[in-house]
Amino acid sequence: MIIDIHGHYTTAPKALEDWRNRQIAGLKDASVAPKAAELEISDDELRESIETNQLAKMKERGSDLTIFSPRASFMAHHIGDFNTSSTWAAICNELCHRVAQLFPDNFIGAAMLPQSPGVDPKTCIPELEKCVKEYGFVGINLNPDPSGGHWKEPPLSDRHWYPLYEKMVELEIPAMIHVSTSCNACFHTTGAHYLNADTTAFMQCLTSDLFKDFPTLKFVIPHGGGAAPYHWGRFRGLAQELKKPLLSEHLLNNIFFDTCVYHQPGIDLLTKVIPVDNVLFASEMIGAVRGIDPETGHYYDDTKRYIEATPNLSAEERYKIYEGNARRVYPRLDAALKARGQ
Ligand SMILES: [Zn+2]
Repeated sequence: MIIDIHGHYTTAPKALEDWRNRQIAGLKDASVAPKAAELEISDDELRESIETNQLAKMKERGSDLTIFSPRASFMAHHIGDFNTSSTWAAICNELCHRVAQLFPDNFIGAAMLPQSPGVDPKTCIPELEKCVKEYGFVGINLNPDPSGGHWKEPPLSDRHWYPLYEKMVELEIPAMIHVSTSCNACFHTTGAHYLNADTTAFMQCLTSDLFKDFPTLKFVIPHGGGAAPYHWGRFRGLAQELKKPLLSEHLLNNIFFDTCVYHQPGIDLLTKVIPVDNVLFASEMIGAVRGIDPETGHYYDDTKRYIEATPNLSAEERYKIYEGNARRVYPRLDAALKARGQ
């Protein structure tokens, strides 16, 4: 079984974006603000948006199940206030839930949180609990920078975030540390802000003792871990100077990297540097990089090809990356699969 742990609903029917635009317009002129119930998307529309996009590509490329969350760049937690994010997150999560219901063999949900800059993260817990307990979601996306590129919240190691971590540990769900749109002109959203945030999150964990307080807390750092694997020597050296334990003990029981790295040398490096138990298959397909690589003739985000081609992995190690590690890091996914006899 091949599990892609990083998929977003980037192809939702246009009505969703139209609704969001009206919600944003409503922040200035309340008379145009839409009600949640005004968004109408039929099952047929959902089905078509998936069958012609993600599901078609999954079949073509040979993956079976995608952990599916709302479109990351559309989370835009910096817009409006908690109520804005709360309504928007509920709508987006419900759509992912409906997709998972329509295609239960191929999609299982992960939640976007109703974060808002300067607002206590514990306000996200009701939406999180609803998604896990009612919708059967198996993970969350946690935005370490809901200001959208201005980094106004404390680091992930700060007690600010602890109520959320307590709930994650209780419910046995990991968080993918995933920022959203950058509204800071210095940072391109997917080319700079995403990768900066991946690296920043890793370093915030490295300098802290967060996982002493939460030994079972799990973070997935997407996009191949940003700069972390490439600069592993720097991070090992910094940990040494800070008198931290070896990274294998300090971070690698809790931090995992996905394979959203869009070329062969990147996957070769990732699988050489990072222990195989800490690498999870993902493509983030129909996401940031949608083109075809002229050097290979294949889509950049067809990451399974790189896992297949790398000389660094045995068959058993490939199994871990495709399936075994995902079952371990996402215990609720494992339980859901086992309940279906898989
Ligand atoms: Zn993503």
